[in-house]
Amino acid sequence: MNKTPAHWPGGLYAIRCVMSMCHVLIDDQGVVIMDSGLPCDRWLLQRGLRRLNIKPADVRALLFTHGHLDHAGNLAWLKSWCGAPIYAHPLEQPHIDGTFAYTGPARWCGRLEQAGRTLFGYAPAKIDVPLTDNDELPFWGGLRVIHLPGHTDGHCGFYSAQHRLLFSADMFASYWFNVHLPPAILYSSPEKIAVSIQRADSLDAVGFIPNHYDFRNPGLHLQRFRQLLRASRFET
Ligand SMILES: [Zn+2]
Ligand SMILES: [Zn+2]
Repeated sequence: MNKTPAHWPGGLYAIRCVMSMCHVLIDDQGVVIMDSGLPCDRWLLQRGLRRLNIKPADVRALLFTHGHLDHAGNLAWLKSWCGAPIYAHPLEQPHIDGTFAYTGPARWCGRLEQAGRTLFGYAPAKIDVPLTDNDELPFWGGLRVIHLPGHTDGHCGFYSAQHRLLFSADMFASYWFNVHLPPAILYSSPEKIAVSIQRADSLDAVGFIPNHYDFRNPGLHLQRFRQLLRASRFET
């Protein structure tokens, strides 16, 4: 199998939800599920896991990039389904609980999330394993925690040195018709964004995999991320 930047590595699967992707990482040690979609995405998640023939006992970890509702929507259900520990940055617990005190334009994000929680009967869950920057996780050949605050304070990417791939979470969105940084209402700490973007850009990656995309080409996502930086005030 070639290793061109367009390469989608073995053992990596994506389950498409309404707004975002959930990723499933499989190796001979078991299954890791990364993020969980909106609460209304549960049937999509269940169907995706069924198609991959994943049983609850196969799952060794539930890994979370951040606690926005389109990522943590089925966290409690996944935990009750498989019992695997929840890994996330501790600063995401208030987001998961729905108690984060948004300020400025991001208050709109809080209002939208609150409406979604009420509408879909959202249930929170507790983080079992708090993550810190540069933690090395024994998943999928090794994943390094890359703390990338700004979108939320505990927003994390995960870097696979083996595949030279960064799961870049919500640092940017990359659709065939549009690539963009998140709008202002989705920045909890906008002053931290530039440093996080530069950190992601400095990794020795050949590909990025965001959470909001519609094509599977990590090299092209990275290329478009760099084009976005050149066109933005975050240029390094
Ligand atoms: Zn987000
Ligand atoms: Zn998102």
